[in-house]
Amino acid sequence: MVSDHVRPSRVALTGVSSRAYEHPSAQTALAAMQNIRGFDTLLRKVHGTIGEPLVRMRYLSSAVRVGPRQFRRLQAIKDEAIRVLDLPFEPEMYVQSMGAVNALTIGMDRPFIVVSTELLDVFDDDELLFVIGHEMGHALSGHSTYLTMARILASIGLSAFPIAGLAISAVEAALQDWSRKSELSSDRAGLLVSQDVDTAIRALMRLAAGAHADEMDTREFLKQAAEYELGATGARDRIYKFFTPSGTHPILVARASQLDQWVRGGSYARIVETREYPRRGEDSNVTLRETIRMQRQATKQLKRLRGDDKELRRRGLEIPYSVTDGESDV
Ligand SMILES: [Zn+2]
Repeated sequence: MVSDHVRPSRVALTGVSSRAYEHPSAQTALAAMQNIRGFDTLLRKVHGTIGEPLVRMRYLSSAVRVGPRQFRRLQAIKDEAIRVLDLPFEPEMYVQSMGAVNALTIGMDRPFIVVSTELLDVFDDDELLFVIGHEMGHALSGHSTYLTMARILASIGLSAFPIAGLAISAVEAALQDWSRKSELSSDRAGLLVSQDVDTAIRALMRLAAGAHADEMDTREFLKQAAEYELGATGARDRIYKFFTPSGTHPILVARASQLDQWVRGGSYARIVETREYPRRGEDSNVTLRETIRMQRQATKQLKRLRGDDKELRRRGLEIPYSVTDGESDV
């Protein structure tokens, strides 16, 4: 039985481009990562060595595929997310017991989504729609190639793919930086799908604290986020501001605060209420000026990353280089 929560009732964002929800800092971080000499070669090497079939097999062998006859609630939520984002492809979805509330999008050629059993146990339909929308955002943006690369490199190690002249620390730092910022983009996609700000913030709270939704108050969480933002102003805090212990995901209060700022800035309303958003058909028309601007920002970003690295070493601190802990995604 599919609940009313996931019946198709939200505004469909026909032809919406990922540019509508990409966080500007994520776009800069992506350009910085792609600008590293040898990065393309590394990506091709990882893809060629591991390959899509191996990544898929890992889940085909240990997870249950969502479909019309299995996990129907999740199938309905997935259908609604695809309809709202007008996704031009249907990512496969799997359920796997992971021992924690979690969801992830992986796959180098064809992105697919894995949801933990624990997430299904704790999240209600609306909150799940936010999470699945977030994952679909990763898929539509083409993030999964890099997210998969990060997972492979974390488990095998960069040294398994020797490339002459490749600065390993630069790749790790850039991948980690982009990975954190891509979460901010996908949170916006999650909100565009769920179309309920309170639910989105509540889902982020639940990712932080798990069950006990009746004990939580989204306004209090946003107050906490504002305090956190105010407190994180020093040089070291600026570096760690968006870090989780694993280093791949921003701190959840920071995510809530960023999402709240996006809504208060009017961008969300412009997209959902007045339907002013970039369309996929226009993606190739992104002006040369914008490309040049991005390249400039990317160069600055790389310099900043190197500067942060030096600063941390000077202080005897370490950049947490593990690109993913494999435990917490979403
Ligand atoms: Zn994510």
